[in-house]
Formats: sequence, structure tokens, C-alpha cells
Amino acid sequence: NLAIGIVGLPNVGKSTLFNAITRANAVAANFPFATIEPNVGRVTVPDERLSALSQVFTKGDRVPPIIPTYVEFVDIAGLVKGASKGEGLGNQFLANIREVDAIAHVVRCFEDDNVIHVAGRVDPVDDIETINTELILADLAGLEKRLTNLQKKAKGNDKEAAALASLAEQIIAVLGEGKPARAGSYDMPVPKDFGLITTKPVIYVANVGEDELTEENEHVQAVREYAEREGALVVKISAQIEGELAAMPEDEAREFLTELGVQESGLDQLVKVGYDTLGLITFITSGEKEVRAWTIRNGEKAPEAAGEIHTDLEKGFIRAEVIEWDKMVEAGGWANAKAKGWVRTEGKEYVMKDGDIMNVLHNS
Ligand code: GDP
Repeated sequence: NLAIGIVGLPNVGKSTLFNAITRANAVAANFPFATIEPNVGRVTVPDERLSALSQVFTKGDRVPPIIPTYVEFVDIAGLVKGASKGEGLGNQFLANIREVDAIAHVVRCFEDDNVIHVAGRVDPVDDIETINTELILADLAGLEKRLTNLQKKAKGNDKEAAALASLAEQIIAVLGEGKPARAGSYDMPVPKDFGLITTKPVIYVANVGEDELTEENEHVQAVREYAEREGALVVKISAQIEGELAAMPEDEAREFLTELGVQESGLDQLVKVGYDTLGLITFITSGEKEVRAWTIRNGEKAPEAAGEIHTDLEKGFIRAEVIEWDKMVEAGGWANAKAKGWVRTEGKEYVMKDGDIMNVLHNS
């Protein structure tokens, strides 16, 4: 599943945010989540389509359970200025951050004299650059080692190694200018096993004080300008408020949000932005048994999507019955949807769309 790593300087609100995430987990304990690592928290992806469908498939007092999809957040501790020098970034840190699909970079945008700032003052752009420099240096160190190995192999007339060595050199040139690897364009895709951090998309999380959610302070503006230059997205949250929200039942939380003058919790926004950043979409399986959301990459075809449900469904895929979720709501169930001719039969080349309901026909 999709995982987003939380990084940032000390004292910016990472733990506060992560605690909100794990608290939200505990509240949503009716979902069948397996035990996970202590530094991993799961946030369900808010999706109103699921409750509409659950109503459609309600028979008498049998309401089909809703199983939403989720995003994992990994608390990646241990990043401080100078971390990539001296001792180097800890192995645990590198292992954790290399595994995630995207990075949520928490930046302090709240003023509070009681909370010490590591650099002595609140300056989010300076903070961002400090962290980004560490990540760039970590990538440089890793890639230079890799390059030495590749060059050795290339000397032995290994053509693939020669191509990879050339790619590594191109990336090293970008990193050497103080830019993240994602800023460059290369003549081949960057292989996953380069283990680079700065190829991953970044979402800046501007952590503001609880009375600043509706207005835009100068720090948030500075982060937005910085992110725009990078083509990155910004989510403004108050980590402290997220903690309070996560502990509340849903209707109370909604009321609290209205009082604050915002539509959506910061976590919900973060999940959605994460989804968009990674080019993900949702398809749905739906019936009287359950209504369930599944995450796939935009552009995936029906058999791959079926494979999310079960590998057998991908292997034995014959065809799929597909209908848009709102058509299903309008029709009020599979039988009527079919009678109206709204259920299409799609084959192996069908590219899934967000909000598709799919029923896989298979021979396994
Ligand atoms: P971390 O080191 O990045 O994990 O930061 P923490 O989550 O431990 O937060 C550091 C301190 O800042 C704690 O005392 C938090 O209570 C406080 N803090 C976090 N977010 C906010 C905020 O939005 N406003 C204020 N005033 N304090 C905050």
C-alpha cells in the first residue's frame, strides 16, 4: 500500500501529527487492520461514495460494511542538521525513508516562545533547505558509492552497467548543484535500487497555530512560494488540532471543524493530496456483502486492478463488469443497472477510472 514518510526538523510538530494519526487509527478500530510497526500509522481515505453505495445495498436491517482504503504514514525520526556528515544518517533512518512512496515534510509555521526552535527563530524556508540539503547529501553519498561499483563493472564490458553509470553521473551532477534528483531530466528512468530519496515527491505540511487555520500567515506564504517553484504541494494543518479531532467521534469532529471555519481536517487533506501527488485513484467493489475501496495507480488496466483484490483474479481474469459509482446509486443495485444497460463489459485492455465499480469474472 501507499506509504508517506513524515520528516522535518526537531520541534516542528512531527510527533504531534503522528500521534494524531495513530489516535485516528484507534478510533477507526472497526477496520480490519493487521498489527503494524510502532512507527507506522494508517489513515483511511475519506470517500463519501462508499456510504452512498452502502445505502444502495442495504437490505432491511443488513447494512453492508464499508471498507475504505488507507494511506500509511511512517514516522521517520532522526533527521537533524549535519546528520549526513560525521556519523552519517542512521541506517534505520535511511531504510525507513527509502521504503516510502512520498515524503510529508513538516515545517514549523507557528510562533510560540515556549517551544524552542532549533535554529533560534521561525524560518520555514531555511528549515526546508536544511532538511533538503541533508537528503541531497545522503543521495550523493549513496550514489557515489554505486557509481564506483558500476564503473568497475562497465570496465568489464558490461553495457548495462555502463548505461547505469552514465545515469548515475547525470544524477550526481544535479545533486551536486544542490538540487533534488527529481529536478533533473535523464535519458532513462531512475531504477528503484539506486535507493534515492530525492526522487520521491514531497508534500510540505505547514504546521500552524490553532487560531491560524483560516488565515494565511507570512510563514505559510513563504512555504507556498517555495513549494510552487519546486512544483510541490502544500497542506496547511494544525498538528495540535488534529490531535484533538482524532480523539472525537465523527459528528463531534465535524461540529468542531465547522466552529473552526474549515471544511476538512488536515489529515483528510493530507491523504487526498498524497493520493493526487502519487497519481492514485480508487475503484470500488460493491454488493450486499460489503462496499470496499481499492487503491490503484492511474492508468492501470482492469486485470492489474483485479490483482489488487486477489492475485488469482489477475491470473484468471476473463472480463469485468464495470459501472460508474453514481450510475449504480441511481440504478439502486446491480439488477436494475444491468436492466438499464449501464453495466459495461470490459476486457483486459480496459483502463480503470476513478470511481469505477468493478465485478471481476474469472476462471480461478
Ligand atoms: P517534533 O520534534 O517535530 O516531533 O515536534 P513535537 O510534535 O514534539 O512538537 C514540539 C513542541 O511543539 C511540542 O511541545 C508541541 O506541543 C508543540 N507544538 C506542535 N504543534 C504546535 C502548534 O501548532 N502550536 C503550538 N503552539 N505548539 C505546537
